Amino acid sequence: MSDQIKVLPENLANKIAAGEVIERPASVVKELVENAIDAGGSRVAVEIKAGGKQLIRVMDNGRGMSREDAVLAFERHATSKIDNEDDLYRIGTFGFRGEALASIASVARVDLTTNTAEEEAGSRIRIDGGAAPRVTDAGRAEGTTISVSQLFYNVPARRKFLRTTGTETRHIVSVVSTTAMAYPEVAFSLTIDGRESLSFPAVSNTYVRAQAVMGNTLMNQMIPVTYDDELVKIHGFISRPDATRVSRTHQYLFINQRPVSSRALNHAVFEGYGSILPRDRYPVSIIFLAVDLDQVDVNVHPAKREIRFSDESSVYKRLLQAVRLALQNSDVVPVFETDTPDISDMTPAAAPGTGNAPGPESTMERRTQIDLFGPERRGGDATGDWTYTPGDTVREGGDEARQGTVREDTHGEPVSLWQLHNAYIFAQVRDGFILIDQHGAHERVLFERALQTMDRESAPSQQLLFPVTMDLPVPQLALVQEHFDLFGRLGFNVKLFGEQTVVVDAVPCAAKKQGVDTLFQRMVEHLQDLPARDLKAEERIARTFSSHAGIRKGDSLSQREMDTLVNDLFATETPYVTPGGRPIMVRMPLEEIERRFNKTP
Ligand code: ADP
Ligand code: MG
Repeated sequence: MSDQIKVLPENLANKIAAGEVIERPASVVKELVENAIDAGGSRVAVEIKAGGKQLIRVMDNGRGMSREDAVLAFERHATSKIDNEDDLYRIGTFGFRGEALASIASVARVDLTTNTAEEEAGSRIRIDGGAAPRVTDAGRAEGTTISVSQLFYNVPARRKFLRTTGTETRHIVSVVSTTAMAYPEVAFSLTIDGRESLSFPAVSNTYVRAQAVMGNTLMNQMIPVTYDDELVKIHGFISRPDATRVSRTHQYLFINQRPVSSRALNHAVFEGYGSILPRDRYPVSIIFLAVDLDQVDVNVHPAKREIRFSDESSVYKRLLQAVRLALQNSDVVPVFETDTPDISDMTPAAAPGTGNAPGPESTMERRTQIDLFGPERRGGDATGDWTYTPGDTVREGGDEARQGTVREDTHGEPVSLWQLHNAYIFAQVRDGFILIDQHGAHERVLFERALQTMDRESAPSQQLLFPVTMDLPVPQLALVQEHFDLFGRLGFNVKLFGEQTVVVDAVPCAAKKQGVDTLFQRMVEHLQDLPARDLKAEERIARTFSSHAGIRKGDSLSQREMDTLVNDLFATETPYVTPGGRPIMVRMPLEEIERRFNKTP
């Protein structure tokens, strides 16, 4: 038998590499945009046709290439970005593998024009499916334009797997906007089938860019995160606990300005919320980490989407800490305490891939202030000993007042719920006390109930003795009609009367009978113009209903009413923040009380 092994022809090798790097049109866009940024451009314009299947063109005003370089750029492993092995461990550019252009040119028709500040004539290089380049002069300003057409025209198997134009377009939009987020000082545009669809002018900071990319509504619901020490600098934005999403897909992570995916670090953000997140909800986060170049290995994944840290668990801890601090400082998580846990005491809980077992026993769980939410909600054991347990009673004759005691004061026993200034409820808990905002508490209770009843289509209503009649403008009337059903399930009995008049003759039992007209009008108005565009109608109605229908500041509450309210509150999914993100309670631990009285516990 003769020798079997042969070295693959260059073009075939490139095609194989393309299989790894170039999965779909969006991968081409990613590589070309990254090259444009690496070239120092301040403007990157992307144009696509038919979801990039017909054409992808990326134009930059960067430093361009000499003719020799431009030809060389298409050879496999041709790169200007690293010289030697040491450079591989200090990568500060997007590219370094020298594979993208060679791969792209082997599976599409490529037409590149480029010019540098030094060269007289610019160059035009055309390559079809990895064939020999055709080189001509091209007059053009400094910068580079690469057009890639008919992607995979010579790889039918791949072409067949491309999805609809809409899907491929969505992937491209996502690549452009994600990259744009990390480079606010670079202007980006995306033209889809001749229409400019995205346009992000150069701005001075990531917040302003994030507003352009993510929208003001979302950014208004975000709080800033910062952290800075010798290992890592972190900045970014995380959602308030009330602005969360049902999936994990809204977590953006950038390491040294490179978008990467990291389950572990996304998990750090999630963990940082402790249990203030409602069940099955995930934060939106945009996190920028900066570490020394030699702390990360970017050469892990052909498309460079993943990254390896030399000390991942330290980065994990710091990110988690940064998120906790951000939430604390934002008033979403209220505490009297002033001390913050020492980072050196902390162990990350169960980051995937870090090999740590989840443990409520970890120091962090016990010491941190955010984790005031108690063991039940996280399925841990009784480390959060201040947790209010509904239904606990005073032990007769016991000298130790148990938490959550809400019985009537019939035996002269002290009760542990008091109303302060007709606005707050003071409650003793095992390791201190909490103050509950009565309005916020009821808002939370009503909100969750409203959502439930709208889901189930059964809400007890109470008949109004005097039905309320309202004249509404036509657009609002249309909204009422559209959501008839929802109002009904919530417990409002609504009828149309004549052209413009709405009659409400029954309201939910939980609502007060006074002010029904204002309440109803508010609900309709908020359906119309509540800024949170991404809230469902149910949620909008529930929010307005809950913030206007219930107990208010100034309402005097009986012992029994407080009892019910507090019990109901702790039966909700998220007893700590209102649907609008305001805190519902603050806590004073005994330790802190003692400290303030200059006693050392
Ligand atoms: P890499 O980015 O990994 O170096 P590529 O195949 O993407 O590999 O690009 C090869 C080389 O071509 C780059 O190293 C760079 O020198 C040059 N190049 C590619 N695109 C541009 C551009 N838009 N402007 C200037 N030079 C470019
Ligand atoms: Mg590149």
